[in-house]
Amino acid sequence: KYPARSVYKLKEADQKYRLLRRGQKVLDLGAAPGSWSKYALEKVGKTGLVVGVDLNPVKVSAPNFVFFQADIFELSPEELCEKTGVSVFDAVLSDMAPKTTGDRSGDHFRSVHLAERALEIAEKVLKPGGVFLVKVFEGEAFPRFVEEVKKRLGPVKRFRPKSTRSESREIFVLARRES
Ligand code: SAM
Repeated sequence: KYPARSVYKLKEADQKYRLLRRGQKVLDLGAAPGSWSKYALEKVGKTGLVVGVDLNPVKVSAPNFVFFQADIFELSPEELCEKTGVSVFDAVLSDMAPKTTGDRSGDHFRSVHLAERALEIAEKVLKPGGVFLVKVFEGEAFPRFVEEVKKRLGPVKRFRPKSTRSESREIFVLARRES
C-alpha cells in the first residue's frame, strides 16, 4: 500500500505524539518515494494539503498533493509558499537523508546539514503550535543541532522509532513551535 517501509516511523511518531490531524497543511521534505506523503494525505483528509519536496520523483498523486522535484538547498521557503499559495504550515516533516557512503562521520555531517536546512525552512513557514519532525544520523554535531532547534522553535523530544533497524544511528527530533 505504501511505496516504502519508512512509513512505519511516521506512523509510530504520529500515534505517540498525535502529530497530524484532519484539515492540516503539511510540508514533507525528502518525500520520495512517497510513503510519508501518502500517510499524511490520509490523515489530513480532503480538506487538508500535503506539499512534498525531493530530488527524486514520488509515486503519489492526489488533488491535494503538490510536489516539487528539487534540491532543498535551491528551493527557498518564499518560493515554496508562493507556488502553493500556503503561507503557514501546521507541520514540517523531514525524512531527508544523504546517500550513505559508509563514511559514518561524513554521512552524519551531511545528515545534519540537511536537518539544518529543514529547520531553516520550518522557522519561516511553521505556524505557532505547529510540529517539526526531523530525522538525523546521530554523531558529534547532534547535541548542537538539538540546541539550535530548542532555541529557534521550542522544547524538543528525541524519538527513536521501534521500527528503525537496531544498528541504525538515526534518531528523530520533534519540536512544537512555541506561540
Ligand atoms: N519519507 C520518504 C518515504 O516515506 O517515502 C523516504 C525518504 S528517503 C529515506 C530520503 C530522501 O531524502 C530521498 O528520497 C532523497 O532523495 C531525499 N533528499 C536527500 N537530499 C535531498 C536534497 N538536498 N533535497 C531534496 N531531497 C533530498
